[in-house]
Amino acid sequence: MDVSRLLDQLNDKQREVVAAPPSDMLVLAGAGSGKTRVLVHRIAWLMEVEQLAPFSILAVTFTNKAAKEMRGRVERLMGSGLHTMWIGTFHGLAHRLLRIHFKEAKLPENFQILDSDDQYRLVRRVIKSLNLDEKNWQPKSIQWYINGNKDEGLRPEHIDTQGDPTKQTMKNIYQAYQQTCDRSGLVDFAELLLRAHELWLHNPDVLKHYQKRFRAILVDEFQDTNNIQYAWLRMLSCDENNMMIVGDDDQSIYGWRGANVENIQHFLRDFNTASTIRLEQNYRSTGNILKAANAVIDNNQGRLGKDLWTEDAQGEAISLYAGFNELDEARFIVARIKEWSDKGDALADCAILYRNNAQSRVLEEALLQESVAYRIYGGLRFFERQEIKDALAYLRLINQPIDDAAYERVVNTPTRGIGEKTLSLIRETARSNELSMWQATNDMLREKRFSGRAATALQRFVELILKMQVEVQAFELDQQADYAIKHSGLFAMYQAEKGEKAQARIENLEELVTACKQFEAPQEAENMTPLSAFLAHASLEAGESQADAHQDAVQMMTIHSAKGLEFPMVFLAGVEEGMFPSQMSHEEPGRLEEERRLCYVGMTRAMQKLYMTYAESRRLYGQDKYHTPSRFIKEIPSECVEEVRLRTTVSRPVQNRFQPATSHMAFESTGFQLGQRVKHSKFQEGTVLNYEGSGEHARVEVNFDNIGTKWLMLAYAKLEKI
Ligand code: ATP
Ligand code: MG
Repeated sequence: MDVSRLLDQLNDKQREVVAAPPSDMLVLAGAGSGKTRVLVHRIAWLMEVEQLAPFSILAVTFTNKAAKEMRGRVERLMGSGLHTMWIGTFHGLAHRLLRIHFKEAKLPENFQILDSDDQYRLVRRVIKSLNLDEKNWQPKSIQWYINGNKDEGLRPEHIDTQGDPTKQTMKNIYQAYQQTCDRSGLVDFAELLLRAHELWLHNPDVLKHYQKRFRAILVDEFQDTNNIQYAWLRMLSCDENNMMIVGDDDQSIYGWRGANVENIQHFLRDFNTASTIRLEQNYRSTGNILKAANAVIDNNQGRLGKDLWTEDAQGEAISLYAGFNELDEARFIVARIKEWSDKGDALADCAILYRNNAQSRVLEEALLQESVAYRIYGGLRFFERQEIKDALAYLRLINQPIDDAAYERVVNTPTRGIGEKTLSLIRETARSNELSMWQATNDMLREKRFSGRAATALQRFVELILKMQVEVQAFELDQQADYAIKHSGLFAMYQAEKGEKAQARIENLEELVTACKQFEAPQEAENMTPLSAFLAHASLEAGESQADAHQDAVQMMTIHSAKGLEFPMVFLAGVEEGMFPSQMSHEEPGRLEEERRLCYVGMTRAMQKLYMTYAESRRLYGQDKYHTPSRFIKEIPSECVEEVRLRTTVSRPVQNRFQPATSHMAFESTGFQLGQRVKHSKFQEGTVLNYEGSGEHARVEVNFDNIGTKWLMLAYAKLEKI
């Protein structure tokens, strides 16, 4: 038997794991040390050497993308398809189990899965059916509460309310929600895990079957398992099977969603004969990147501790760029990507990673402007996001109330008690009279065709839109957006919700106001109001489809969704105090360390080149905020970083002036020359003294007659020659 292909491309430590006799193992190792690779090779080894059938192997990963990749890699090593092997996420595997054993799990055969949006809507209906006020019992927080309990394995009857009436009501809602799900054959995500756990708990025969069947259980990204997932794995283990878990405590980044890094210690306690193997050689990143990432994570307390080294050359220094503002930051990133692709390298090898989804908008626009294809993973493009479409729908109604799509979208968002029956009546009337729904509503109100409650609700909605139309007339575009978001009730609706998702929606809404502020209508929109021009721009951008699956495109995603992945060139954007670490991390204990782990995850995605960028001023929530560089940047040893200077600070002393990097010719192509007299809208007249950078990064130093010298970016300064 030739097993060399399974071991050849591994180091000694990795080989030790792959070729170990069947036993419980913990592989604890830092980023890029080959954990996932070892896991894949181990699966192949078990089949080839230990003669396990694919059917007796269970492998768990964190995302569907990772699961697909893992299956592909094992199949390539084995040279054949492995359909009977169970590889998937916890949710996917639980689902598979419940489909097979629906009877034992007390589910109808055709049970349906509720996604998170469906679940939200159902929770809301349940709250209403209990005659509770949504204002006091926020559907989002109740949803969070229900899922949190399920993740801990708790049914309503397990919850001790300690006589607290608030807790009692929450528990009642949970109970009523669950009854509804059970009656209608609905299973939410958290329920998949809990049901699968209970299936085994209450059906020892079924459990025994799987204990016998799965001889090897392998889990990647173990540091982010939650309690119910761990309990499920633990139940499956028995004397006849073995468990290999692979993880990195420094990459635990889902604590906010119930993941429990202590599961690593629990594993060592519960599987006390398990051996722990540490992999310390990193194969992914250059020396500089690794040294920097190690130095950052070293600031966390209570780590299990690992040393990572690489044989790789030091490589290039990490480039740090301080954008003048977020637009400049985005342009810088796009310019570097263009340089990269002009050399003939693939766009798909570049990843832009950010802390918050809302950051993507400015980056997306900069990419679109330069016609660079991009793809967003694990999230929608900015103008396609639910809350943004809601807000735009209000703006569209202000602009043009006969817009039926906008009307349908928000007539009952936030809820105003306008039900489906009323709406179908309006739709019907509109259709038969060839009117818009808005016109039909007005006619029908006048003719008193609605029941009391519906009439009041619709009357209020109509008045709201009319009032908005009047009030925003004198406003600037960004004030119009801000007004619409606030007065429509959208902002309050999301603000009242709890959880990361609601927070992200609020940030996105605030980002929309910023987008309006920065919007410059294109030439062809000359005769349009700013609002119409902006709405056209938003629909066009939303309509611009993502780069298709095969097209070479820049990869954009949050750092959270980049887990486990690697890219030759990585940009970490927005590395500023208040953004990353996020503001919230100051308020909750432990949060700062989780942010630092997230930074470690982000940095260690880079193979050859890492850029970290921040903006000195950033328009956030409609205001300019001045941020200092993130503490994480300060934690990087200075020898690993090099600051990119395309520009100079406004007040830089003359004697420190940089040698101009561009030729006079290139500079003169901007239309300016040294000694040129220019006029600026604010600083008035002056003389060009110096320059640096080229193209969109060109900067000039001007000696203004009244206020002395200043460095300005040509792209923003709008200087006129005189
Ligand atoms: P993460 O913690 O980010 O999930 P990981 O520990 O799972 O990282 P892998 O993704 O398995 O690391 O490996 C990182 C990179 O190093 C991959 O490109 C992999 O192919 C390569 N690699 C791992 N081990 C070796 C080896 N022995 N020889 C050459 N390349 C290796
Ligand atoms: Mg991995």
